[in-house]
Amino acid sequence: MEKAIINGTVYTPSEKIESGVVLISENKIQLVGHANDAKIPAQAEIFDAGGMFIAPGFVDVHMHGVMGHDCMGQGLVDVIQKIPAYGVTSFMATTLTLPREEVLATLEVMGKILSASPDGASCLGIHIEGPHLSPKRAGMATPTWMYPLSANDLMDFQKAASGYIRMITFAPEEGDAIKTIPALIANGVVPVIGHSDATFEQVQQAVKLGLNHATHTYNAMRGLQHREPGVVGAVMYFNQIYAELIADGVHVHPVAMEILLRVKSPDKVVLISDSAPLAGLPEGEYEWEHKPVHVRDGKCVLPDGTLAGAHELLDTGVRNLVNILGLPLEKALIPATRTAADSVGAKHKGRLEPGCDADIVILDHDIRPFATFAGGRLVYQRS
Ligand SMILES: [Zn+2]
Repeated sequence: MEKAIINGTVYTPSEKIESGVVLISENKIQLVGHANDAKIPAQAEIFDAGGMFIAPGFVDVHMHGVMGHDCMGQGLVDVIQKIPAYGVTSFMATTLTLPREEVLATLEVMGKILSASPDGASCLGIHIEGPHLSPKRAGMATPTWMYPLSANDLMDFQKAASGYIRMITFAPEEGDAIKTIPALIANGVVPVIGHSDATFEQVQQAVKLGLNHATHTYNAMRGLQHREPGVVGAVMYFNQIYAELIADGVHVHPVAMEILLRVKSPDKVVLISDSAPLAGLPEGEYEWEHKPVHVRDGKCVLPDGTLAGAHELLDTGVRNLVNILGLPLEKALIPATRTAADSVGAKHKGRLEPGCDADIVILDHDIRPFATFAGGRLVYQRS
């Protein structure tokens, strides 16, 4: 069955096409072009975008949950079904620091869900964020549950998760963790530096071994000092590093966001939400990772004021790049779509090009999701 999305401005996102058309055949994009040039088959089902924006569905490689549903466990089913409402069509189900046995038990549940994934956003795999972190850069995570990453641990975790682990955030300076980088890459897992107190030289060694991705740049990592550039300096210095950025307007100052985008370009900045399972919930007192968490003023915070993930999803980040930093939409979309997909090797995602997955979001003029297609199927439409 063919579908045609018509009457909108298409952002591929490399190109902007006024009065554009996107033709879908089964679950793939067949054609993208101007209305005058695109032949729409007579039997095609038509979706009129009503003059709105037609963009690739958002790709969030770092998110923990939404609306009370946690990616760690059965909540993953709800996450898959709910996030198309935020324009997200693919994501990495991200875990956090818990005691080792608890993480392993959770990974088993997640692996089972992913082997028969429900309809909704496509889960690209599991992103492990903890317990292989630096206690010095713990953020909200519990230091006593942390220990260095080892090759054995990689095998145990991957086995528990039925092989669905695709990213591991870890502190390479802890123990012999840096030595696991080649094994991670050989296993199809993206090594990601994060929650790290590494020096610039330590990151340099990790980059030589293949490191090319950093978890939420600026947050929970050694900062840039003029005599010790730290992790932040290394992320900016090494062109090959994809730099995740939380653009919720809370985690990172707008000027720091803009500096990163200028230094790295939108082709190397990966917009992430780092959404807590409490994202989207009204103000109140909740619990996450066995800790009390308050939702107030658009933030999720522990009693001591430490941020506990984000309250916003990726659509807010895109809006902030436009509304706070003043980027044109065609530029703001790139870190949330094409670059995010490229950073995890998902070249068939994050772009509207023939042969790619038909993951599409229709955004209104306030850049709020109006309708979302995942694999060519309409999975969300605003009522
Ligand atoms: Zn996180």
